Formats: sequence, C-alpha cells, structure tokens
Amino acid sequence: MVRLSRTHGGSGLGLRVIGTRRKNRARLNNVATRIYLSLGSNLGDRAAKIASGIAALGAAGIRVLRQSSLYETEPVDFFTQNWFLNNVVEAETQLLPQRLLQELQRIELTLGSLKQIRRGPRRLDMDILFYGNSVIRTPELDVPHPRLADRRFVLVPLAELVPGLAHPVLHRTVAELLAGTKDTSRVRLAEE
Ligand code: ADP
Ligand code: MG
Repeated sequence: MVRLSRTHGGSGLGLRVIGTRRKNRARLNNVATRIYLSLGSNLGDRAAKIASGIAALGAAGIRVLRQSSLYETEPVDFFTQNWFLNNVVEAETQLLPQRLLQELQRIELTLGSLKQIRRGPRRLDMDILFYGNSVIRTPELDVPHPRLADRRFVLVPLAELVPGLAHPVLHRTVAELLAGTKDTSRVRLAEE
C-alpha cells in the first residue's frame, strides 16, 4: 500500500516533465539531429578555451559524440593575428538551428571576450558547419556554413572525422572539397 501511494505521488513529477516539454516545444526537435561544429581560438590559453567550450556543450543540450585532433592554423582573414587552434566536433542535439546558434553564442560570450571583432581575434569561436542535411539561409544563420569550402582550417579536421560526408548544396564530399579548395593556408597537427 505504501508503495502504491508513493507511485501515485510520482505522477506529480510526471506533470512537471510534461510542463517542461511544452515550454521547450518551440526550440526542440523530436529527434536528435547530427551536427558538426567548428571551434577555434587564437588568444590566451587556446587549448583550454576549446576544451572548456566542448565541456560546456553538454549542459546546453548538445551531446558530443567525437572530436577531431587539434590543429595549428594560419589566420586566413587578418594576417597579423596569432595562429589559431582549431578542431571540429561531431554531436547531436534536439535544439532547433536558431536556438543552437544562441546557445553557442552564449558559450562564446561566457568563455571568451565580451567584445569580438567579426572574424577578428577571439578567445573562442564556435560555428555551425552542418545541421543534418538542412539548408538554412537567413540573415543570422547560414547552414551549411558558407565559407566552409574555402577554409582548410575547417576542412582538414572535418575530413579527419567524416571524409565521405556529402555537402547538401555543393554535392561534394568533405574529402573532395578539401582536395579542391583554393585555400592554401597552412594547417598542421598541434603538438600535445
Ligand atoms: P566568423 O565565425 O565568420 O569568424 P563571427 O563568429 O563573428 O564570424 O560570426 C558573425 C555572425 O555570423 C554571427 O553573429 C552569426 O549570426 C552569423 N552566422 C551565420 N551563419 C552561421 C553559422 N553557420 N555558424 C555560426 N554563426 C553564423
Ligand atoms: Mg563564428
């Protein structure tokens, strides 16, 4: 009898779970989507920033499955900057794309500097490369990432994880994009 009444009391917990689901409906998919994120840092303790960024993903609803090696990469946009440390993370999430971007920006701000110059130096940059096979073109969010095919610092770590993954717009695999890119900037494995 005691057990039964406890079970009964448990239904209150069930109601709270339903309430949470309702609240999240607008920003959650029913199924998890496979995503690829590019992480980069060129200020401060770069490896620590990337590690903290990856550690923060889980609490934001982004389940990390695999991560590439870390690469030392030559800056592409501003030649006077320090070299970057970059890698790519394979993950899955139920967050919808806009919400995913918000969460990444929140983590960037929490762990990085408050003021960031677009494509300038930063403690932590997190970009969405792919969101499943989705093609998204809005002022705030472009997926697949529009400069992905012109960036060896993205293609090299991405090819380490998924060389055969097909780009949903360019219809080339990651390995083909890497072989064909016109970017000649240097990307080398970081020493541990
Ligand atoms: P970048 O990543 O190109 O060096 P920023 O990190 O400064 O530049 O990003 C500038 C803006 O790019 C962000 O405010 C965001 O709204 C937009 N953006 C568009 N598509 C993406 C994407 N796929 N991933 C991350 N940010 C994106
Ligand atoms: Mg960015």
